[in-house]
Amino acid sequence: MDLYEYQARTLLEEQGIPTPKAVFAQNSHEVAEAVETVGLPCVIKAQVKIGHRGQAGGVKLAKTLDEAILASEAILPMSIHGHKVSGVLVAEAKNILHEYYVSISVDRSSRDYDVLATAAGGTEVEEIAREHPESVKRLHINALDEFDIEAATRMAESIGFYHADVDQAAQILLKMWRCFKENDATLVEINPLAKIGDPDDESSKTLCALDAKISLDDNAAFRHDGWKRFEDAVQADPFEQRAREYGLHYVHLDGEVGVIGNGAGLVMSSLDAVSGAGEEQGTGIKPANFLDIGGGASAQVMATSLDIVLSDPQVESVFINVYGGLTSCEQVAEGILEAVAARGGSKPLVVRFDGNAADEGLSTLAKANNPNVHVAQTMEEAASQAARIAAEAVQSKEAR
Ligand code: GDP
Ligand code: MN
Repeated sequence: MDLYEYQARTLLEEQGIPTPKAVFAQNSHEVAEAVETVGLPCVIKAQVKIGHRGQAGGVKLAKTLDEAILASEAILPMSIHGHKVSGVLVAEAKNILHEYYVSISVDRSSRDYDVLATAAGGTEVEEIAREHPESVKRLHINALDEFDIEAATRMAESIGFYHADVDQAAQILLKMWRCFKENDATLVEINPLAKIGDPDDESSKTLCALDAKISLDDNAAFRHDGWKRFEDAVQADPFEQRAREYGLHYVHLDGEVGVIGNGAGLVMSSLDAVSGAGEEQGTGIKPANFLDIGGGASAQVMATSLDIVLSDPQVESVFINVYGGLTSCEQVAEGILEAVAARGGSKPLVVRFDGNAADEGLSTLAKANNPNVHVAQTMEEAASQAARIAAEAVQSKEAR
């Protein structure tokens, strides 16, 4: 998971890395309040999970409150390289004397950690590496060696920090390393790590993290309470959020046929079959979601899955495609009937079974004689039937 700058800053601050005062804001009113807190001049920065914001017009300096509001009104509706801006960071503007770049990332090929750094920071490191490859230093941290203040100092010296900055740079490197380890990150990048202050006053000069990019290892989410604190309040899809709470693999799409299956491959083929049927029938009907219920296709899991899929108001029919393995299709059939009964009804379901007790499962469903539960022998047949039912429902909706 990639973090927004305002979230990444929080993790740096928790380690004691200096950052400018800043407040996240989502409308003009909040921007005005934020300016009050951070003071003037300030920078208004688009919050998107993509770099090169400066070049795209997503970072603007404001000297007055009016300028700050105007800048935010220009930035808030923007999309940068296809990413919708989720808000702005109103940050204290600093006088930049010099810009360094430092990052720590996982290096899968050498099975250790890469520290990438250059004294010529500011712009994207890829550009610097292209234009001045000699100025970009690549060092390594071995997972088994201790990375302490001595190691960090040696590193700061070899990275090319100016002599006066080495001690503070070493402290920051050490804190970045702790930030990386403690948060199970795959990337911690500061660009620019800026030397700021009054050029005529030596004692005012100090290093400060003006921009941060952090990616977290999704496989470690369980060790961090699922990173709930970083959930995107604005953009999180409510269906996906609910599915995640139940541990289901669900992806929200924007079609009309809900799809539930067991096994990622089977569900993917089911999506293709639905899209194919929609095209063939000339209706443009598409799948509404991907939902893999995994191995344990129990009645409870089926009930929860149906609940989530049917709570999407765009869903007009549901294609259930299950390959019976450990769980027999007969048990899945019972689960479907229980789930439909518990819901007190359902949109039309089309069920296709294969594998363990497939025939028994289908005959259980057929015997139940529920007008909303249809059975099909093949995947194509089921997809085609589900697509046709959805198209009819859409048509009669439009006629009304
Ligand atoms: P990015 O383009 O997405 O990497 O966004 P940054 O936050 O790195 O901002 C881009 C550039 O804006 C930086 O490299 C700086 O040159 C400039 N910038 C950002 N914050 C400040 C600030 O507080 N003062 C000044 N003078 N420039 C800033
Ligand atoms: Mn940057």
